[in-house]
Order: sequence, then C-alpha cells, then structure tokens
Amino acid sequence: MAGNENAVPQADHLTVFFASQTGNAESISRNIYEQAQERGFKSFHYVLNDHAKVDWDKEDCLVFVVSTTGDGDPPDNSTKFWRHLRKLKGVGLTKAKYTILGLGDTNYDNFCQTAKRLDTRLQELGASSFYPRGLADDATGLEETVDPWIKNLWPALAHQVISTPAIHDLPQPHLTQEEEKVVKDIIFKQEQDRRQSIVTSTLNSPKLLPKTAVAANGRDPIENTVEDLKNLTLTSPANPPITPATGYKIDVDFSTMANHANLTALPRVPNANLQIADLEADTVSRTPGSVPTFIQTPTKLMMATVNKVQCLTPPEALKRTITIEFGFEDDVDYAPGDAFGIWAPNNEALVRGVLSALNVSDTAAMKAVRLHGQGIPSHLQPVQSATLLDIFRYAVDLTSPPKKANIRLYAEHASDLADKQKLMFMASKQGADQFNAFRAQLPTFLDIMHTFPSINIPLARIIETLPPMQPRYYSITSSPMSKNGHRRWSCAFNVVTYDLPGGIHRRGVCTPWLDELAGQVPFGKAATTGFTTQRLPVFLKPNETRFNLPSDTTKPVIMIGPGTGVAPFMGFLEHRAEQRLIKKRLVNIGSGPRQHLDDHFGDMWLFFGCRHRERDWLFREQMEAYKRDGVLTELQLAVSREENVPNSAKYVQDLMRNQGKSIWNLIHKKGATIYVCGDAKGMAKAVHDELVNILVDHGGFEKMAAIMELNTWAQEKRYLRDL
Ligand code: NAP
Repeated sequence: MAGNENAVPQADHLTVFFASQTGNAESISRNIYEQAQERGFKSFHYVLNDHAKVDWDKEDCLVFVVSTTGDGDPPDNSTKFWRHLRKLKGVGLTKAKYTILGLGDTNYDNFCQTAKRLDTRLQELGASSFYPRGLADDATGLEETVDPWIKNLWPALAHQVISTPAIHDLPQPHLTQEEEKVVKDIIFKQEQDRRQSIVTSTLNSPKLLPKTAVAANGRDPIENTVEDLKNLTLTSPANPPITPATGYKIDVDFSTMANHANLTALPRVPNANLQIADLEADTVSRTPGSVPTFIQTPTKLMMATVNKVQCLTPPEALKRTITIEFGFEDDVDYAPGDAFGIWAPNNEALVRGVLSALNVSDTAAMKAVRLHGQGIPSHLQPVQSATLLDIFRYAVDLTSPPKKANIRLYAEHASDLADKQKLMFMASKQGADQFNAFRAQLPTFLDIMHTFPSINIPLARIIETLPPMQPRYYSITSSPMSKNGHRRWSCAFNVVTYDLPGGIHRRGVCTPWLDELAGQVPFGKAATTGFTTQRLPVFLKPNETRFNLPSDTTKPVIMIGPGTGVAPFMGFLEHRAEQRLIKKRLVNIGSGPRQHLDDHFGDMWLFFGCRHRERDWLFREQMEAYKRDGVLTELQLAVSREENVPNSAKYVQDLMRNQGKSIWNLIHKKGATIYVCGDAKGMAKAVHDELVNILVDHGGFEKMAAIMELNTWAQEKRYLRDL
C-alpha cells in the first residue's frame, strides 16, 4: 500500500464484541479473538454490555458476533449496549470499520434480527462495513457459515489492522493440506498399528498427561488429588447417598469411516486458559437452600417458597402439565405478561456420574477452588470460591449435545486409537453424518465419557469448554392485583421427559427437578403441603417487548395461545377480573352492572388449543368461569385429536379463519391488540399467515401490503408475540 495516497490508514488493533444467550456467540468470538492474537493482530475481546470499557471514538476496527433470542430479541448481556446505542445521535462513528457475524435459526421468524438491527444502526451512526456480514443458521448447522466466514475474515482484516509479525495466513481454523495429512497419518497409521496388535503396548502405556490447566506449582491441582482419591466412595456425611448415573452408550454407524482417508475442516481447538486453584478453606460454606454466589442473573435473584402445586393433566394425557405457585417474603413488582427465570441445577445423579467418570472423589468435589486465567469464559469468571460439585451443578451445561470443537478436543485426549479415530472423524467434514447421528441422540457429557471411555481430559479443559448453564424461563400466570398478588406468582409448564430409541431416557433440566421438588402430585386438586421446604432461586424477567395488557383498559385484546402458551393470558384474565371487581366496588353499581362494566373494559378474546378436552384443556374451570362472569368475551377452543366434535376446528389458526371478520372488526374498528404466545416454529408462523389472510380477505389488502401492515403493527406494539 506504500505510496498509495488513497490507502486507508490501518488500525493498530481490533476489538471483538459478542452478545450471547447460550454461550455459542461467546465461544465463536473467543475463537476469533484467539486466532487474531495468534496471527499477530493486537486484539481485545468484550461482551457488548461492557461497551463502556472501550473508547468508541477511537475504535477503528470492530468485529461483532451476536445471536438472537426470543422473538428476534438481543441477548440479555447486550441490553445495556442497546440502550446506549439508541441514545447515540448523529454520525459519531464515521471512523469505525466493522463486520458482523450473526447467529440465528431460520425455523424462527426474525432470523438473525440482532445482527441485522446492529448493522442498520451502525450504518446510521456513520460506521462502514469492511467485510460482508455473515448470517449463520442453526437449522442447517452454524459451522456451514461460521467456518468460511472466519476463514475469509483474515485477508479482509489484513487490510484494516496492522499485524506484527504479519502471519495472518495461519491455517486455522481450516487445516492446511499438510496438517490434514498429519491428522490423517496419525489416525490411520495408529489404526494400522493397532490392527497389527501393537495395541497392547499402546493401551498399557502410562496415562496421557494433561497438557494444560496447570496450577502455580506446575501441576493440575485436581489431577494431583485424583489418583489418591479415586477409590473413595461417592457419598459423604454431608450429603445423602446418591447413585451416580452411568450414562448411555451412544450407537453410531462408523462403517463408512474407512472410506475417508482425508479429514478436512477440523475445527480449531480452543486455547487452554482456565486454571483451577485450591483454596485454603477445605470446603465452601453454603447454607442449605442457598445457591452459589457465582450465579449471575439479569435482575435480582430471589429465593421463593413453593406455596401450592397442581397437576392439570390426567395420566392419559400426552404431556404432564403442572402449575406451581411461588411465594416471596417481600413484595415483588411485576406485571401480567412478565416472565421469570429459574436457576435449576443439573440432575444430581448426572453430576455425581460425571464427577465419578472424571475420577473426582466426593472429598475432592467438596473442596473449595477458584477458577482463574486470562480470557476465561464470562460465566466462569465469578467462580472465586466454590466446590467442584457446585460448579458441575450450577455453572456448566451437561446435557446440551456437543459442538464439533468439543468433539475435536475429546479426540485429542482419547488414549484408545479407535475412540480417537471416531471422535476425530465426527469432528471432520467427512464425518458430518455420524456427527449428526450422534447429536440426534442428545448425548449428555456423561454419555460421551461412557461411549468413549478412554477420554482422559484435564478437569480445567472440561469446565472451560462445556457450555454455560442457562436459566429456564416461564410466563407468570397470575396477577399482582389478586389477593397477596405481590407476594406470590404462579406458572404452568409441561414436565419434559421422553424416551429415545435404544432405551435411552431423557429428561429436561428444570421441569422434572421442579416436579420432584413439588412432590410429583397426581392429577386433581391443588396441594398445599407435601412438597419441598427448600427455597428456589428465581428472578423476574420483565417483558422487554411490552407483552403486557394495554394501559387503556377499553381497548380489546385478542389472545392466541395453545397448550402452555396460554400461561401469560391466565395472568391477563386474572388481572382483568381484579380490575373489574375494583371498578364494580368503586362505582357501587346497582342494576345493570355488566353493561356499565363493559363500557370500561374492552373485549377479551381467547383462542386456545388442546388435544382432548378431557385431558389437556388446561385451566378449563377458570376459563369457563371468566366467560360466565363476562371477563372473557369470547372463548374459542380448538381440539386437535378428538373425533366427532361438532363444529370443531383443529388448530387455533383454523378458529381464526372462521372468525376472520370479527377479528378484523376488533382490530380495525376498535383498535385491538393481538397477542400470540407459544411454539415459535409451527403455530406462530401459521397464526401469522392467518392474520395476513384476514387482512387480505376482510381488510382488502394486497398480500405484500398485509405483511407490511403486520410489521407496522408489531413495531407499534399492537401485534405482540412471546415465543
Ligand atoms: P402442545 O401441548 O404441544 O400443543 C397444544 C396444541 O397445539 C395441541 O392441540 C397441538 O396439536 C397444537 N399444535 C401443534 N402444532 C400446531 C401448529 N403448527 N399450529 C397450531 N397448533 C398446533 O403445546 P405445549 O407443549 O404446551 O407448547 C406450548 C409452547 O408454548 C411451547 O413451545 C412452550 O415453550 C411455549 N411457552 C410456554 C410458556 C410457559 O410459561 N410454560 C410461556 C410461553 C411459551 P397436535 O399436537 O395434536 O398436532
């Protein structure tokens, strides 16, 4: 570029920002940051909420890796940044060059919405893109976009940022042909050797030494203790005996593996940054019923009691649905339509099984440790004093299927050649079918250890590469206006357990745990005793999209929510019932109260769907009572699996079609707000399409104009979705 007067001055560093809900965007951005460092680019790595740590006037080169959550919403750890971005005025970022990698899923509407919105906003602020935006789709595999996008980022960056030394043609994350040959040689030469019966000596060779995670004394503190402790039992006086889970062996057909001599597109193994330091204290004191201090929640963590539990579905229903009422010592300020998060631990038997598979004794598991190291994942940074047991319970996700980078890491640490070969194959492009077949069986981390028992991996490497534990979110089904409403809230959910072929039993993290704590009550009346006295960690998640009742109570609302998607609407209805009661008392109405009340309150229409009226018509009694009392103007029920139901529609969208004219009138003439809650993939799309049809059939719109009109309603918060 020397001598070229138009040459853009190169930046002296780049900054990689991420916004991540499940940890994917964070690990991909860390990968970019680490590679950038290796290639000689001075780089920084921040979560978007830490935007104030950089001087934006001086940032010349920015790389964003952002995911999308909910109905096109930005991740929680970027909300502060978005508020800041909205406040910025003018074109203050004209110097900045940026690029964006968005992560999303085309099964959901608003694919990669965060990346698109960020792109638009940065352009408005005067920044310019130096490398085309990448939008990766989880429905087809994030790697398909992420890998080539990162590969081509380096030459683009080389024009923007000075590198010292100029080594931006490093082969990662794709291996060069030479490297691939090495991989191939390792695997296939070793396999050949194995076949020639040299395997015996290989298997009897000393245990692989951990390469990373060394403590100050140069040795892994956990590894130091593992050998001594591994024969101890997994029970301790402090904990009741728990039978550790053993994991399932995951069957995958590797018969075609021998056809592939070259393995390509092997992911880069993330750097080893994490170190585990033993602390002076023998154990971490944690009062019963409390949770570890490293848990970080977007709003204040509160400990709730269980007040009341009811099972809403009989045993013959397809799903077990329960409703739980939580109680609080202090008032909680919430609105119907808000959700709450709950921080459930991993299943205890699974945790014990994992610790056992990793040869961590009960004593070692109860020892206080600190996690530290430059650039460790954000969810591990607050772990300053915790037991390994709590780290495996609350900090890491043991049940999400592995990513290719994890499989590659496990391959590196497998001592048995057959294990290594299969793992390496699954991490490669050629082993995509096997990788998908493996993931389809939803292996837990324990299943992986059980299927490939020769994996011998330092504990620190496991902790830093497992995804972060996520809180689970549920809508609040109650109103703060009801009796004691500020000291309690309710929720309803399906208990997620299911069986896969091959006798594999799977369970969700949170709902079976809650069900067990709530005493696994039978179908029928609500129980007020017989459940845990333990307090549960919850936090409020106010609805960012204003999925709340309109402030003008005279405006009609149209609520569409099949299954447990009806949860927030039960809160709306309870709230409206209370509002009506108060109004009635205030004006001391004599005759014709209904008429008078209806002047103050707009129509409420509910479209609900279930499979069988007798089995999973959730909250039936309440719905019918609200209808009788005039709270609910119209109750529309779709029944999907019952035959011979007169005039029955199968799905909520069919009901909407039948009621198209009334829906159009409510919207057009009375200014109704439409609320949709439930499954994002099938139902929400079908409902959206039906609304388009209603606008076309009854509003006289052209199809494109109808779609645009719905977008406008969404922006004006007259069409709200909680998916
Ligand atoms: P579900 O039991 O699976 O289904 C309820 C009804 O919807 C069934 O009759 C089902 O019919 C029908 N249905 C299936 N596919 C449909 C489609 N494409 N269009 C319209 N209706 C369809 O419902 P669920 O499991 O409770 O699911 C509700 C959803 O709400 C979940 O995704 C959940 O995450 C979400 N959600 C829950 C909460 C909460 O607080 N618990 C809050 C917000 C959202 P068939 O099965 O017979 O086809």
